[in-house]
Amino acid sequence: MIAAPAIQTSSLSKYYGRTSAVQNLDLVVEANRITGFLGRNGAGKSTTIKMLLGLIRPTGGDGTILGRQITNPELNRQARAHIAYVAEDKPLYRYLTVAQTVRFAAAFYRDWRCDVAGKLLREYELPLNRRVKALSKGMRTKLALLLALARKPELLILDEPTEGLDPVMIEHLMQTIVARAAEGTAVFFSSHQIAEVERVADQVCILDRGCLVLDRSLDSLRESFRRVDMVFPVDVVEREFQLPGVERIRANRRQMSVLTSANAEGVIERARAFNAVSLEVAPVGLRDVFLAMVNGLESAIGKEN
Ligand code: ATP
Repeated sequence: MIAAPAIQTSSLSKYYGRTSAVQNLDLVVEANRITGFLGRNGAGKSTTIKMLLGLIRPTGGDGTILGRQITNPELNRQARAHIAYVAEDKPLYRYLTVAQTVRFAAAFYRDWRCDVAGKLLREYELPLNRRVKALSKGMRTKLALLLALARKPELLILDEPTEGLDPVMIEHLMQTIVARAAEGTAVFFSSHQIAEVERVADQVCILDRGCLVLDRSLDSLRESFRRVDMVFPVDVVEREFQLPGVERIRANRRQMSVLTSANAEGVIERARAFNAVSLEVAPVGLRDVFLAMVNGLESAIGKEN
């Protein structure tokens, strides 16, 4: 049986005054996978997550989360009982100690697992009697993560979970995310750590200026994205290589590098027609795909080089 999507949106949009934060978002997050949610600063990731959780109201469109309509406050509240969420700003009660915070959460959530909480407390080495306001930024992130990871939710939503964490903690978190997914929890997490997303995610969604510009499985991305590097006997104009499936072209007189999401064969054929003296085709990583799909940065990098 195919499980219903954990998240599904249709034309979901948000304006803050005249600022368009999210535009006509059609997003499907499958239940049985880890989905990485990428985008530049201000792309609209947190705004999307807050709309999904009913924390802010969409300007247009709607969707479902765990099968419940997101714009219906009662249904959204029911869904949230099965969702663990770590917000970008990791809000916690400043005057509670670590131990008090954990006890408070344990009493609050039905799906709380005391054994897991105890294990994470030991592994995260959090000072039990220290107040939240006296914790370092990374410690606060660890505590916020612990409160989500000690539960057994149907859906785990993490908004920039690695911010402020040291490399050991990032590694631990990635392993925990994979373990939770193996237990059947759907994971949806936003991150700027492209290498980590590439390592653990099954699916990648890229948001750019509020629009979804990529929604692909990492397997299909690895299979279909290619970089074609070419050298020609004479200068060649970019226009000749603007073919279907071409996402980015970098040209420098006789050299050209083309990134394709499909149809690398078409580019190779065109290269041969222009008598390329050198032709190399290579698979590309998520970082290159990200840089090709988002606006702004690419032209800035191009100018510097
Ligand atoms: P980052 O990676 O920097 O956290 P993000 O992808 O999470 O960014 P959002 O926080 O969703 O981006 O912001 C999307 C856009 O909406 C930005 O232009 C931001 O300035 C704007 N925005 C977000 N919250 C508000 C708000 N409360 N009032 C007005 N504009 C807002």
